[in-house]
Amino acid sequence: MSVICPFCDSNNVEKVIVNNICTIPYCGETVIQHKTYRCNNCQEQGDFDYTLDKALTKAIDKANTGSAPKLIADLNKDGIPMAYFERALRLPVRTTARWKKKKISRESLALLRLIRFCPQLLEVADGNFSFEARDKYSFSIGGTHQTITIEQKITITGQTAPQLGFGGYPAPAISLPMFTKPHFGANI
Ligand SMILES: [Zn+2]
Repeated sequence: MSVICPFCDSNNVEKVIVNNICTIPYCGETVIQHKTYRCNNCQEQGDFDYTLDKALTKAIDKANTGSAPKLIADLNKDGIPMAYFERALRLPVRTTARWKKKKISRESLALLRLIRFCPQLLEVADGNFSFEARDKYSFSIGGTHQTITIEQKITITGQTAPQLGFGGYPAPAISLPMFTKPHFGANI
């Protein structure tokens, strides 16, 4: 079935390849090529056969899932072995083995990116998200060039101090629920 131009009903259309630039977290920009149509009669260009959305979504998904092995390699480079990663998150080895082969769901990729952004989340997970784990919590952005350190220095001087929140812990100062009251390092 020939493709018809929806603007002028001409079948004098040709397929053209266009480039889409897509930013993949931690992998920079990726060029995704896809086909579209141009009408030689009225010069309009577009998704005349309504396949572009599906094809583009598939290509973008592929580019995103393709970043999983690099995220894992980055964590390993930063001194986080997969054995620790799996233990902290209660994941079977076969799961991360699939990720290394670029077989990863969107949800798992989101988790992997969060851990890549803040590897210390593993410490909290490994500590069963306990108050003690939160108290020890330190936050740093993974990577070789930028580091933000947030140290918690909580001193509880009285049992009924009015500034303390639920359970005797300081009320959360920022939106992430696992944070209590962070002290920001001088280098941010
Ligand atoms: Zn046309």
